[in-house]
Amino acid sequence: MRTVHGIPASTGVARGPWVVLAGADAPVGGRIDRAQTPAEVARLLAARDAAAEELEALAAELMGSGQPEGEIFDAQAMMARDPSLLDAATVAIGEGNDAIAAIRIAATGVADQLRALGDELLAARAADVLDVAERIAARLAGIDRTVSLDVPSIVVADDIPPSIAAGLPRDRLLGMALESGSATSHAAILARAFGIPAVVGAAGLLSAATGDADGNRVAVVDGDSGEIVFEPDAAATARLDDRRAAAERAARQALDEASLPAVTRDGAEVTLLANIGTPAEAERAVALGAKGVGLFRTEFLFVERPTPPTEQEQLEANLAVVEAFRPGPVTIRLLDVGGDKPIPWLPIPPEPNPFLGVRALRLASEQPDVFVTQLRAAMRAAASGGRVKVMAPMVADASDVAVLEGLAERARESLTAEGLPHGDIELGVMLEIPSAVLVAPSFFGRLAFASLGTNDLLQYTLAADRGNAALERYRDPLHPALLRLITSAAKDAEAAGVELSVCGEMAGDPAAALALVGLGVTVLSMAASSLGPVRRAIRNADAAVLRHAAQEAVGAASAGDVRERFEALLAGA
Ligand code: PEP
Ligand code: MG
Repeated sequence: MRTVHGIPASTGVARGPWVVLAGADAPVGGRIDRAQTPAEVARLLAARDAAAEELEALAAELMGSGQPEGEIFDAQAMMARDPSLLDAATVAIGEGNDAIAAIRIAATGVADQLRALGDELLAARAADVLDVAERIAARLAGIDRTVSLDVPSIVVADDIPPSIAAGLPRDRLLGMALESGSATSHAAILARAFGIPAVVGAAGLLSAATGDADGNRVAVVDGDSGEIVFEPDAAATARLDDRRAAAERAARQALDEASLPAVTRDGAEVTLLANIGTPAEAERAVALGAKGVGLFRTEFLFVERPTPPTEQEQLEANLAVVEAFRPGPVTIRLLDVGGDKPIPWLPIPPEPNPFLGVRALRLASEQPDVFVTQLRAAMRAAASGGRVKVMAPMVADASDVAVLEGLAERARESLTAEGLPHGDIELGVMLEIPSAVLVAPSFFGRLAFASLGTNDLLQYTLAADRGNAALERYRDPLHPALLRLITSAAKDAEAAGVELSVCGEMAGDPAAALALVGLGVTVLSMAASSLGPVRRAIRNADAAVLRHAAQEAVGAASAGDVRERFEALLAGA
């Protein structure tokens, strides 16, 4: 028995034989004579075009059958067609490299730039650029990159690039275990979209997965604890089988109960919405009973690529989500980048304190068109008759609300001037900066809704970087300071008649969700996999008890005390 631990990336427990994906043999690059340069450039161009067409066809086929990888290949096709990639490769050929070596040099340069930006999401996109280069290199060498599974298996690999993931037969893919990657890498996103248990970033995985299983030797991947066990002994098998049975029961139960109302035993109704990052996630969220989207993180449409998405592309993405949830609301968040989340085509000078810098809506003074285009795409999606909401991230006060209103005005006027059909959208803000909560009455009257971004609200309230592992003790959203801010927002929202929701991770944590209901928040938006557990917690609780516990919680001395109380209510419920 060999055990390794990694980052839980997709819920559930998979058990079965494992297959180590070594990846297709990479073609080897080499050197050429100067005289071969024009021919080598022509060869590269032909391979690039063929690879881009292959990616476009794959994207169209997958999107046509509603499969989530489609968008990834669409983005990869654009990377393949990006002239700067070809230019850099042409320069490398001019320096004496053959086309295979040259496309790798060019892609490595782009990937290094993306990684240097220090953002997990962009680093994951670096893998895409390299994957595109390998596809082109494989074309140049005439190599087939498809992988087959003979029996239902757990796939073990260093990483699984999207091109390989798409070739895996989904009906035989039991789970994924990867030595590299993070919870936001593509393989992890795909595993969640497929509903397949996955663990990523598991150091030592490949050396523990010695050889392919012969069918009698099994591995277990626990996507909830992050544990991967090869050839478990009898005790571990029994323990993991129990967990697997429990995870399967919970997953079945979440689907079975998806149509039940999220209502407490004493009749308080809660609306459960989904947080999504791509239109591909909509289907699963609908199946799990989300009544709409409380947070559509649009960054995914923007960061996976060297150029911004066109208004038409954004419109199509919006329409896909609106259709999936109709008549439920879809809340599109304006771009939340800058500072710690830079994007290559948006020039932002480096800042000493990016979390406190020119990020999100603060970019509007320099880059208003990015936001106006997003608003236009939202307004045009609303012409379909769906319910479209737009919210601005990182709003600090009433002046920022005026910025949002100005952008919306510009978007509407330009659409009217161009005679393009558009509909009404509801405007709102994220409450994720303490000042916005403190002065909310000064702008609530101008808005249709507000959504508490508790991830950032907690980091700014406790002055604790949300990405710093050393500050774990400041990371529990049940901190009384945060609860006081939420109480204040709920009171002011009620007085102004503004709908208040929570879309931070807090809403998907069953004990914290109960605290939110106790504090008077009745709209909760979360990752699809949290919908089942939160629904159950609410249906087994009494709102009167939660209100009483929440009132006491705001006066507590620590987050630990509050958590103990709500975990006990959860267990006893
Ligand atoms: C938040 O800050 O709580 C939030 C929902 O937004 P993000 O996690 O994308 O910053
Ligand atoms: Mg935020």
